[in-house]
Amino acid sequence: MPELPEVQTVLEGFIEAVGSTRITALDCYYPGTVILDPELESSVFPAQIQGHRRLGKYMTISLKGGHSLVVHLRMTGKLVYNPSPDEPLKHERARFSLENGAVVHFIDIRTFGKIILCKSSNLERYLPNLGAEPLEPCYTAAYLQKQLSSRKAPIKNALLDQSVVAGLGNIYVCELLYRAKIHPETPSNQVNLRSLQRIVKETRQVLAEAIAVGGTSVSDFRSIDDKTGSFQNFLRVYQKTECPRGHKIANVKLAGRSSFYCPVCQHP
Ligand SMILES: [Zn+2]
Repeated sequence: MPELPEVQTVLEGFIEAVGSTRITALDCYYPGTVILDPELESSVFPAQIQGHRRLGKYMTISLKGGHSLVVHLRMTGKLVYNPSPDEPLKHERARFSLENGAVVHFIDIRTFGKIILCKSSNLERYLPNLGAEPLEPCYTAAYLQKQLSSRKAPIKNALLDQSVVAGLGNIYVCELLYRAKIHPETPSNQVNLRSLQRIVKETRQVLAEAIAVGGTSVSDFRSIDDKTGSFQNFLRVYQKTECPRGHKIANVKLAGRSSFYCPVCQHP
C-alpha cells in the first residue's frame, strides 16, 4: 500500500507530467471510483492546475476556477501518464484527459482507490481527521507524548493511526521502530520522551531517504512513468530474515499487520 513517500512521488510525478497543460476531462470507468461533490459547478473543465499538496496519504490538487481534486491510491491505485492513449486499459478505473492529447490513467486492481472532484471550499469534507505531518515542525516528541499519554495500545498501532501521524503505513513504521530501537509491542504510554525523540528523528530520516529514491516498490507501487521506486533495496527489517547486525528477524501480527522487528536490537 502506498505510504507517504510513494504518494509524494506519485503527486510530484503527476504535477510534472501535466504541467501547465489544461485537464479537459475526468472520465470514470468503474462505479464509485470518481466521486463528484454535489455542489460542483457544471463547467469544471478545461482547467489548469494551480497548486498541490500531499496530506497524509492523500494527494490534493487545486485547479484554477475554484475546484480541487483529491486522489487516494489506497491499496493498489496508480496514476500512469500516457502520451498516446487508446481504449481503456485493463483495471483502468478513471482517466484524466489533457489538452495535448495525452492522458493519465488511474489503474486500480483492487478498486478501493478514489478520485474526488469538489469545490475547493468543500475540500475538508472529503478528508478525514489527520494528525501531524511527520515532515513538518509540528511532529515533535512533545506532540507524540501528548497524543500517546492515555493510550495503552502498542506503539506500532499508534503510529499507524492516521489521526496521530498522517502518512505512515506498515513498512515505514516497522523500519523507523527498528532504527529507533523500540519494540513494536511497547505500550504507547510507556515510551519515554527520549525514545519518542528517537522515533521523530528516525521517522523523518527514513521518509526522506525513501522520497529521495522514489519510494518503496514491494508489490505493485509504480510512479507516474510506471517505474518502480528503489527503497525496497534499503529496508532493514520489513520482509527480511536478518537485521543488518545479523540477528534473526521476528514477526508478530499487530492490528492485523505483519510487524517485522529484531528481538535483539529492539528489546522491550
Ligand atoms: Zn538486530
